[in-house]
Amino acid sequence: MTITRRKALTLAAAAPLSAAAVAQTTAQRGTPATKPMRIACLTFIHETVSYLPYDTVTEDFIYEGSPARGEALLNSEAYGYMTGFVKVAREHANVELVGIESPLGSKKGSGSGWITKQAFDRFVNKMIAEIKAQGPFDGVYLALHGAMAVRDVAKGEVEIAKRVREAVGPRAFIVGTFDPHGNEDAEFLRYANMAFCTKYYPHYDTNLQGERAARMLIRCIRGDYKPVSATRKPPIITPSVLQWTGASPWMDLVQRALTWEAREPDVYVSFYYGFAFADVSEVGMCFQVMTNGDAELANHVADDMANTAWRLRDPLWHSTKVYLMPEGVKLAKDAMAKKAVPVVLADHSDRSGAATWLLEQVIAQGLSNTLIGTVADEDCIEALRKKGVKVGDAFDMPVGGKLDVSAGKPVRVRGVVNTVSGGIVGGGGGAAKSQLWVSVKFGNNNVLLISPYLCQVTDPAQFLECGIDANKFQTIAIKSRVHFRRGFYDNGWAKTILLVEPVEPFLGTIRLEALPRKFNDLKKFYPYNPNLKYPA
Ligand SMILES: [Zn+2]
Repeated sequence: MTITRRKALTLAAAAPLSAAAVAQTTAQRGTPATKPMRIACLTFIHETVSYLPYDTVTEDFIYEGSPARGEALLNSEAYGYMTGFVKVAREHANVELVGIESPLGSKKGSGSGWITKQAFDRFVNKMIAEIKAQGPFDGVYLALHGAMAVRDVAKGEVEIAKRVREAVGPRAFIVGTFDPHGNEDAEFLRYANMAFCTKYYPHYDTNLQGERAARMLIRCIRGDYKPVSATRKPPIITPSVLQWTGASPWMDLVQRALTWEAREPDVYVSFYYGFAFADVSEVGMCFQVMTNGDAELANHVADDMANTAWRLRDPLWHSTKVYLMPEGVKLAKDAMAKKAVPVVLADHSDRSGAATWLLEQVIAQGLSNTLIGTVADEDCIEALRKKGVKVGDAFDMPVGGKLDVSAGKPVRVRGVVNTVSGGIVGGGGGAAKSQLWVSVKFGNNNVLLISPYLCQVTDPAQFLECGIDANKFQTIAIKSRVHFRRGFYDNGWAKTILLVEPVEPFLGTIRLEALPRKFNDLKKFYPYNPNLKYPA
């Protein structure tokens, strides 16, 4: 497709300006690069697995260091959205950042059940009160996720943007950063001006999107960028395990977004894969495209991305092989026999952390030299804490299961306490340091790591934080979908990767039809309705 008007614009822009002309243009704009500005920064990040049998409550966000405000909030992470935002904002002159009191991650880990309205209101009311008290602001930065689900609130992130807009007025600019597992539609951009979404899974570019958000927000405030956006929602729903962007066609969609950003100055493409395990009306894939005042171009790029995704809808569902648990564990045994080790057995489906299906199969099939990390069991951990557990103690307890049917039955483990630690930092929310994690040695050189909450181990080195050297095992059985590829696959560490799920179509498996839905209808999405047409 040719865009004649755009070509004309490009040619005009290519004509060199004299230094005098540049100076004159800058003066006419009346927006010197040193104009002081104030930006409020806040965060509220949660990926809600609304099918879990427990809610995420106020106390889950309150622990040492959370909520955070001021410099503590701005420096609350070593790497990520806020870090990138602060770094680039502070490279600009006369930019004042104000850290608004915000909850850091839930101590139940990256995903947990419905956020209660009480918890949501508690933190958002405080944010709005602080914005009003400390304003006026020229801009607001919202570090969000996009898959937040709040009881009795239709769209959590939209509600935050709406209330922030009411507080700062129509002239301020609002920019958000998002996780690609966000369930987004056009609503957020009714109240906010821009949204930048991480492109890769594993999420390698969180810091980069924060940096970009800062630069673009400052450009907006200085009148150098007039954001217009276009949103498309091709009706495609996929489970997270299939969304690995290291393989085609997921990789191709990321590459296509990057290509648009490279070939058209000031175009930004946000690609949300969607999060199928939140029962919300806005579930499913989404593209948002932002341009500098060019609605025609925004619509053109958004159509191109959405139509391309729709053409690829069938391969999007077949890029990753997932085995049923018994077969996957047998394949791990075969790989060990052939010395194709280390083997990673990843139970992608466990959303509570308590699932015992993999542990059960490891024991049933007699695997040796296997590290299982983790099975979450808060009651077991509390019982051990009360006992004053120490290394070398005999261990004979049922572990895991119970939480819901998808977690399975508790599995009795008999062995010896191997390590007692504070757990994996970042693995159990920001509160990990104050937690108790216990590992047990059993069978033929097997170790089971028990944590209070779900932990996705993303790098074998993380086990060292619990005193366990993953290099001493041949199979590592973990709970992760894609994030583990950072440290187990992308660097060539593992020789065999096996993604597994229980035989039954439970919460978390690729069989999304197993979940009861109240706020959306699978029949409105590919592949659950073969007769869908897009664009409609
Ligand atoms: Zn994500």
